[in-house]
Amino acid sequence: FEGMALVELAKRSGKSVSSVRDVLVNVGEKVESEFETLSIDLVELVAMEIGLNVKRLHSSEGAEILPRPAVVTVMGHVDHGKTSLLDALRQTSVAAKEAGGITQHVGAFVVAMPSGASITFLDTPGHAAFSAMRARGAAVTDIVVLVVAADDGVMPQTLEAMSHAKAANVPMVVAINKCDKPGANSERVKLQLASEGLLLEEMGGDVQVVEISATKKTGLDKLEEALLLQAEMMDLKSRIDGPAQAYVVEARLDKGRGPLATAIVKSGTLVSGQYVVVGSEWGRIRAVRDMVGKLTERATPAMPIEIEGLRGLPMAGDDIVVVDSEERARMLSAGRKRKSEKDRLAKRIQEKAEPVESPE
Ligand code: GDP
Ligand code: MG
Repeated sequence: FEGMALVELAKRSGKSVSSVRDVLVNVGEKVESEFETLSIDLVELVAMEIGLNVKRLHSSEGAEILPRPAVVTVMGHVDHGKTSLLDALRQTSVAAKEAGGITQHVGAFVVAMPSGASITFLDTPGHAAFSAMRARGAAVTDIVVLVVAADDGVMPQTLEAMSHAKAANVPMVVAINKCDKPGANSERVKLQLASEGLLLEEMGGDVQVVEISATKKTGLDKLEEALLLQAEMMDLKSRIDGPAQAYVVEARLDKGRGPLATAIVKSGTLVSGQYVVVGSEWGRIRAVRDMVGKLTERATPAMPIEIEGLRGLPMAGDDIVVVDSEERARMLSAGRKRKSEKDRLAKRIQEKAEPVESPE
């Protein structure tokens, strides 16, 4: 939705018009008429106060919808080579090339393909990050690279990664790693994966498999091509114009610059100077930096950026929404803080009521 009249909001939430009006008055908003359209920020705030779930949607009517790069996450069993693969891929990234091999750790990087297309890789491997993001409603990843060591085969966390990807409805590309090792047996890995229900391409399915060595840096171009092909099949597109919707991938506190968040825009364009609410924090974007650390005015879909200017430290998976003014930003942030505090308390009360068994 893009805004709603008070009467409509009351109707949808099953509350009386006057109780919705009270909520608005409590946050200091004047309501001239109950038929006047409330802004998206106000609707979200009221919805939170009355315990209604809302999702922001921006109308794409008349907006330009353009192809965008895929956002990729690497997953797999411990020691199968996720970090090594990311390191190897990072060395082929735009940042590494432009900065002469020196890259800062920024949470995501972009690899440009000879064809002109590009792929965005999230720099945090692992299931915890993926699940945490998903739990916060952040569907950032388009494709999962499932890393399986050729000498070790399918292991518990391989299966876990598969089930995460499946639950999130995210397609996988399999990278059989460590193919340089004497004990490597990629045929065995393929059979194991097939017996776990993965429909591999060479067996008539649509899951691509690539044999690589992260440390010897072989097969990386094939992997990148496979990802590009997967992305093409998915026909990934986003609205380019209009207010951005973005997600935090990573956040840290810098002594001099304050809270810094690596973010990826999902749709729209994020512009320096805009007021944003990030999770339950807010701020005015003071600087947007690209992956080389260069200041930029605007960020478009799938472009990893670092933003500066937030008042507090957000969490990975937090959504970033653009609001009209500082007042709105403060108000929405405060509303979200109240809501998360309420949820936290409710959860604690519930946990007390039905004690959960602690994991072994
Ligand atoms: P992660 O736990 O999945 O992040 O795995 P790492 O990237 O840390 O790799 C675990 C170990 O396997 C390290 O000692 C790596 O050097 C080694 N390794 C990773 N990829 C390869 C590879 O392609 N070939 C060989 N021979 N060793 C590899
Ligand atoms: Mg690792």
